[in-house]
Amino acid sequence: MARLVMHVDMDAFFAAIEQRDDPELLGKPVIIGAQPGGRGVVSTASYEARVFGVHSAMPISEAHRLCPDGIFLRPDFRRYKEASDGLMEILRSISPVVEPVGIDEAYVDIGGLGRLLGPPTEIGAETKRRVREQLSLTASVGIGPNRLIAKIASDRQKPDGLTVVAPEQVVAFLAPLPVGDMRGVGRKTVPILHRMGIRNIGDLQRRSLEELQGSLGANQARALHLQCQGISSDSVGHQQERKSISKETTFQVDERDFDVIRETLLVLACQVGRTARKEGLAGQKVTIKARLPGFVTYTRQRKLLEPTLGDLEIFRTGIELFKAAPFAKGPFRLVGIGIGDLVPESAAKPMLMADASERRAQRLYQVLDTIRDRHGEVISLGKPGKKRGG
Ligand SMILES: [Mg+2]
Repeated sequence: MARLVMHVDMDAFFAAIEQRDDPELLGKPVIIGAQPGGRGVVSTASYEARVFGVHSAMPISEAHRLCPDGIFLRPDFRRYKEASDGLMEILRSISPVVEPVGIDEAYVDIGGLGRLLGPPTEIGAETKRRVREQLSLTASVGIGPNRLIAKIASDRQKPDGLTVVAPEQVVAFLAPLPVGDMRGVGRKTVPILHRMGIRNIGDLQRRSLEELQGSLGANQARALHLQCQGISSDSVGHQQERKSISKETTFQVDERDFDVIRETLLVLACQVGRTARKEGLAGQKVTIKARLPGFVTYTRQRKLLEPTLGDLEIFRTGIELFKAAPFAKGPFRLVGIGIGDLVPESAAKPMLMADASERRAQRLYQVLDTIRDRHGEVISLGKPGKKRGG
């Protein structure tokens, strides 16, 4: 049976939920995260806010400068978790093999479902339809012969997109994309390829393996040679250009409030997870970084039992490291979080480990609920009186 993978990614998830629950917000630049004048970062910006250049993990002061008339809301993780649970439930109604990788993102194995649900385009359309009907939200869906293609495809027509790439279309689908869109092609490799006259993936497809080996390492040349044909290089064991993936943020004023630290780390962990998934990498190690006043910088790290590329697992491990550290009380000038000891995501875990990852997710969501509880009335900016199960 031919392998068929669907990648489902919700559009501007937190902001879309706020817009869904308060029609007054529809069509307006909505920015979820810290409050202007306060500290911390943007968690999610609606598409209307993105027009102003606002994006995730940007300091909130910067977002406010770019978009002074934006509507700034505190996150309400309980509602986001409900929508996330709803999404995963919908996906499990499509296929038994669902691998959540972010709060709003999952891979679904849809190989062998053709008889039941029709061709891939129909499976994708049906998924989007169920999400729209049951959650009143939109998702972008990509379908391809492997995760690499499915992931790139879901990103092609955001928001509310559906991109299906049949195995015989893979080469043509990849050809116009910039080489930087490939996994493991970063700041070091892009200039090397450009010097060789290779700008998009199509240019790469026309080069022989020997040519590439002249300018790149043997392993990387081989990985890119396969990848540009749409063959996921996961199994090749190529040398990673990246040694780690990390994100950090500097506070304008030294930060003492651990709730702000926690929320900031959550946003940064989601960024790390997103990058990891884009690159097809997982980390065996989670690292945190903290800079105290006077530029004393600390790092702490923990080896994981198995590599991860899940936002919430990265976040949870980071928070535990923070809490256990002697500098936990702050105040903080800068905090950061990242993953290291990178391996290809295929080495991370087989599809699926629903039970273990669900247990982990549950613990994490308890943490998220704690954040919400601590923030009390600020967070209940969400609709009063709207009853939601759970
Ligand atoms: Mg998303």
